[in-house]
Amino acid sequence: MRRRTLALAVAAVVAGAGTVVAAASAATAATACAVVYTPNSWSTGFTADVKVTNLGAAVSAWTVSWTFAGDQKVTSAWNATVSQSGSAVTATNVAWNGSLAAGASTSFGFQGTYSGTNATPTAFAFNGVACGPDATPTTTPPTTAPTTPPTTAPTTPPTTAPTTPPTTPPTTPPAQNCVATAVCDGFESQTGTTPAGTWAVTYPDCSGAGTAAIDRTVAHSGSTSLRINGAEGYCNHVFVRSTQILGTTSNVWYVRYWVRHTTALPTAHVAAVALADANDSGKDLRFGGQNGALQFNRASDDATLPEQSPAGVALSAPLPVNTWNCVEFKVDGRDGTMQTWLNGTSVPGLLEDGVPTHDIDSQWLNRTWRPKLTDLKLGWESYGSGADTLWYDDVAVSAMRNGC
Ligand code: CA
Repeated sequence: MRRRTLALAVAAVVAGAGTVVAAASAATAATACAVVYTPNSWSTGFTADVKVTNLGAAVSAWTVSWTFAGDQKVTSAWNATVSQSGSAVTATNVAWNGSLAAGASTSFGFQGTYSGTNATPTAFAFNGVACGPDATPTTTPPTTAPTTPPTTAPTTPPTTAPTTPPTTPPTTPPAQNCVATAVCDGFESQTGTTPAGTWAVTYPDCSGAGTAAIDRTVAHSGSTSLRINGAEGYCNHVFVRSTQILGTTSNVWYVRYWVRHTTALPTAHVAAVALADANDSGKDLRFGGQNGALQFNRASDDATLPEQSPAGVALSAPLPVNTWNCVEFKVDGRDGTMQTWLNGTSVPGLLEDGVPTHDIDSQWLNRTWRPKLTDLKLGWESYGSGADTLWYDDVAVSAMRNGC
């Protein structure tokens, strides 16, 4: 009986300032990979760029996994959806970078925390196949040595590259809750029980059972938060509105807040956040939920992001209850693109990258949309059924990522 051998190299090469190059080729496996891991560390945190090269057959989706050597914790990621369980980390492609031709590379990154030594992760794998350390794409050298190194990477970017550049990770650690350029509000300056100062309670069109209050029993930071008692039915809506918190940016907004709520998003359409759009007759860009998952809705034409097909809903995410969730979304008025992070992870169904994607944004892209946002409203509005009690805290708006 013929035995097939599986050759995997397992050393590590450190090249340059903290860059670790690892590669492997499985002689009998369909998939092989090379990984370049480049961390940028400060005293308690770091960002890392992970470049992966597909040395096997073309794939339409990928997962890169690794094991942290220390207590590293991923807090946010870009160009991949990253999850962590203990020291085991899994990064999955986002909508636009899942297809990877043979020999093609893609990169993603993440931000994290650590204590002690930020040791290099081990056990990199690509679609379940270990990426070892041999930095060459084949296990056996060619019998006739080429005079120039074999080409292992494409010289032009892959055709699946996004049309807008990915968010640049910060090179310095952000402040815990608010980057320096942001307008931030943790509601700590509120002195009464009714939202005041730069915030005002509003009930557009009609008012009913919905109420809003400053709450000193529940807070994400400090001792104060904004509580929304959201009731069912449109006229029972309530919002707390600020125009000044959008003040520092003119055409791109990163809106970050923490929200804690008590009832899972209903099947019916609801909105929890609304932003008036001066370029859309003042109609709101709404952020809420439908079919149990987060969604954007454009009031002017009722377009939804993602589309509410089962596949589209599955590309969004529920909003976990009875815990503080960090929500951040980008709205770029220059090109109409959007991106949304839930607890630091980009949600593929809430990504509007300008390229129609089945089940996500082909409806959204039915018309040109270049929003100019003029206010931020936090509250609750249901168009059929669905009530909720919510708390908001640590709102930040700026022209760059705030993170969590
Ligand atoms: Ca607070």
